[in-house]
Amino acid sequence: MTSSTPEQPDAVVARLRATFRTGRTAPLEWRTDQLRRLRALLTEHGTDFAAALHADLGKGETEAYRTEIDFTLREIDHTLDHLEEWLRPEPAPVPPHLSGAEAWTVYDPLGVVLVIAPWNYPLQLLLAPIVGALASGNCVVAKPSEMAPATSAAVARLLPRFLDADAVAVVEGAVPETTALLEQHFDHIFYTGNGTVGRIVMRAAAEHLTPVTLELGGKSPAFVDRGTDADAVAARLVAGKFLNAGQTCVAPDYVLTDPETAARLESALARAVTALYGDDPAAAPNYSRIVNERHFDRLTGLLDSGRTVTGGTHDRDRKYIAPTVLGGVAPDAPVMREEIFGPILPVVEVADLDAAIDFVNDRDKPLALYAFTESEETRRRLTGETSSGGLGFGLPVAHLTVSDLPFGGVGESGMGRYHGRYSIETFSHRKAVLSKPLA
Ligand code: NAD
Repeated sequence: MTSSTPEQPDAVVARLRATFRTGRTAPLEWRTDQLRRLRALLTEHGTDFAAALHADLGKGETEAYRTEIDFTLREIDHTLDHLEEWLRPEPAPVPPHLSGAEAWTVYDPLGVVLVIAPWNYPLQLLLAPIVGALASGNCVVAKPSEMAPATSAAVARLLPRFLDADAVAVVEGAVPETTALLEQHFDHIFYTGNGTVGRIVMRAAAEHLTPVTLELGGKSPAFVDRGTDADAVAARLVAGKFLNAGQTCVAPDYVLTDPETAARLESALARAVTALYGDDPAAAPNYSRIVNERHFDRLTGLLDSGRTVTGGTHDRDRKYIAPTVLGGVAPDAPVMREEIFGPILPVVEVADLDAAIDFVNDRDKPLALYAFTESEETRRRLTGETSSGGLGFGLPVAHLTVSDLPFGGVGESGMGRYHGRYSIETFSHRKAVLSKPLA
């Protein structure tokens, strides 16, 4: 059966649950076979997905491969390399009153899991969780974002052709379809997107006592210390911020720095934008478009939140907003009130490191915190005195490409984590086993 048949959500889940109950998804061989099939899908249809990503977001082909297709392939390969070792039962020491007994843990598959993805990396953020779900021996309902319709259609058409179609189903659609799905009983729900919908997901999950992973967003700050090389910092900030036109959950949302560094950094940021995208970013093949008019209008409404250092131009017909840096931005300016999720980088001045730490701690815990500093003491203080999903020194965004690091948020930026072996923790139940011989 394929996803294009109008199968009702309860029927989809019942069909997958029947598959799960046969036990066929549990053996390591089924899991690795599914991962190899997913690998084949991405290699054989990479150009189809790249075309879909271009249609949805104006993503350049190189970027589509780097941040979505090849990213997922790396996650698959890493999992294939280590899965057997990750799944090995882990012995636990037994206390003296149980001498003669043995104890260990094993990973149980959970059952039927739901993966709900957003539009900004519509392929990677759907498939990378699915890698973990399949590697853990589960059946999966995949719900791509309706806001990336070309990618959603490509996934719905191709995924069931490559994977075990009675164990993996794609359900396309928007709010009504997702709402109907959320009424079903899943064994785990993995949601990536905004916190408002995250709350809806968690409320629906509570009805069935279903555990959730919420991969959310927020404003990820980038602290720039005195005495750092402004051009080197700017090059890395610009590459991380304007990737996918700023529509990246771990993009540096704003810069925090002292007034003297701000002056040097702002001109360096303008140079770095030109170095990466040329004099006319609208013509740059590596610069994405805003996903839709609603987000375009929201973002252009934020452009007068500060002094324009570079950029500021836009074209609604092409959903283009130039890479923009704003200087002298007040902490309560409109651009500082919500996650920007677009190509606008405000520079906010703070007196020193103490003020920067207070600034971060006065707000929601971010998905990522970045710092550019030569000082070991500053790194130590930021590590110990702030809380964030991830922490990047000297390089934004890239921590999520390390498969052996957990990826996830804390507080308002989410709950739970995945990638590599952390996906196995998320999509399995770690079962405690005790065994004592009768004699
Ligand atoms: P989105 O609008 O595509 O929504 C995400 C999913 O939720 C979609 O599949 C959509 O169909 C579904 N949905 C929307 N409204 C719903 C409702 N009322 N009920 C049930 N389901 C509903 O994406 P978005 O939320 O705009 O994504 C952007 C946000 O996601 C940003 O905050 C960003 O930081 C965050 N994000 C986080 C990560 C991460 O890994 N932590 C990654 C990417 C994006």
